[in-house]
Amino acid sequence: MADNKKMVEAITSRDEDFAKWYTDIVKKAELVDYSGVKGCMVIRPYGYAIWENIQADLDRRFKETGHENVYMPMFIPESLLQKEKDHVEGFAPECAWVTIGGSEKLNERLCVRPTSETLFCEHYQKIINTYRDLPKLYNQWCSVVRWEKTTRPFLRTSEFLWQEGHTMHATAEEAKEETLRMLHVYESFYKEILAIPAVIGRKTEKEKFAGAEETYTIEPMMHNGVALQGGTSHYFGDGFAKSFGITFTGKDNKQHYPHQTSWGVSTRMIGAIIMVHSDDDGLVLPPRISPVQVVIIPVAQHKEGVLDKAYELKAELTKRFRTKLDDSDHAPGWKFAEYEMKGVPVRVEIGPKDIEKGQCVVVRRDTREKYFVPLEGLSNYIAELLDTIHNDMYERARKNTEEKTFTATNFDEFVDTAKNHPGFIKAMWCGDSACEDKLKDATGGVKSRCIPFVEEHISDVCVCCGKPAKHQVYWGKQY
Ligand SMILES: [Zn+2]
Repeated sequence: MADNKKMVEAITSRDEDFAKWYTDIVKKAELVDYSGVKGCMVIRPYGYAIWENIQADLDRRFKETGHENVYMPMFIPESLLQKEKDHVEGFAPECAWVTIGGSEKLNERLCVRPTSETLFCEHYQKIINTYRDLPKLYNQWCSVVRWEKTTRPFLRTSEFLWQEGHTMHATAEEAKEETLRMLHVYESFYKEILAIPAVIGRKTEKEKFAGAEETYTIEPMMHNGVALQGGTSHYFGDGFAKSFGITFTGKDNKQHYPHQTSWGVSTRMIGAIIMVHSDDDGLVLPPRISPVQVVIIPVAQHKEGVLDKAYELKAELTKRFRTKLDDSDHAPGWKFAEYEMKGVPVRVEIGPKDIEKGQCVVVRRDTREKYFVPLEGLSNYIAELLDTIHNDMYERARKNTEEKTFTATNFDEFVDTAKNHPGFIKAMWCGDSACEDKLKDATGGVKSRCIPFVEEHISDVCVCCGKPAKHQVYWGKQY
């Protein structure tokens, strides 16, 4: 193995330096390249193919729940952005502005969209008139721009790809239902497609989205115990509708304000895949989004019959899996290391001796286990193996999250746990944001992740101030 690694060049060990390990993987697995614009990344074909698989599955889920795709402009006039006060205050520090068009100075500055609530509202104001026009269930796939000071590929970049759902409903109940429905769509997607478990719940007042009444979040834990806000779903009440003058005539013939939601996930999910599943030999991809699910590597391919058999296998496996055959003139050892770096879930090796015996060698990327498998029925064998790999990856991530989740009942215990045991801390909270600030300052950045739907009773009092507790909260550092 050592020789193979030399050929592909080893990466930094995950335990030694997690940040450098991450950067090594995104570069050496050819997911991204840095661009001439600071903070913006080139998503290379292999990285973009992962995004396309993510997008295809999520898009199907959105459509199954009744949503339609639309496309809004990428510019927001300053006056439009300012219509909702909390919203503009939340985003102002991150906005990029266009002030000149061609050679002329613009009368009004245009913001490059950081998110599109305001554009959707302007449009909804025109097309929503009666209760018959509701609900409106729109989604947009696009890129947004948030001027970040420090950036890291996939996790924080000035421009990133995402989807943003924006919906309007006749009643608060319907809008709240939608907010939770979409959070659960994300939760299922993380579990069923990315093999990533997550804590879900409601954000505290301090951590919620600018302009929202309620923000719900999905918070997977990375291998090193740090959380990633993996997706959010917001309930806006009728606040935006009032600011933008959106009204409809109800069945009672009176004018009403509709209730609104928005929800989004982004290319950050690729960062989560890397940080949850991958190891010291590179990427480990969940089979259901892997651009290549099976790679066939001929061994001693110059010998008679080997390549023919490899092509035959490819033709068969391609019917069911995203299959690649590497018949390039690199040595097999180089190829093994290359596709390990790229995280291809299953490798099939076929050489002259295997052909004689009517078998091939099948290797799992996640565990490195190696099996001799009869060629007869290989396709069924691989289908089952891919499911097993998915389930095992999920289970390993679940175990890691469980092992790195702690409880604390008082301030000292909280600070001590935060310092010595990276991960989530379950602790009670009084509901006061001053306690959130104090805990964050004392721990170098531990924040409330969410109030889970099912709260545990850990103690009677707030972990910070000792006053009566209102909620159990998950706390942790985040990317
Ligand atoms: Zn407190």
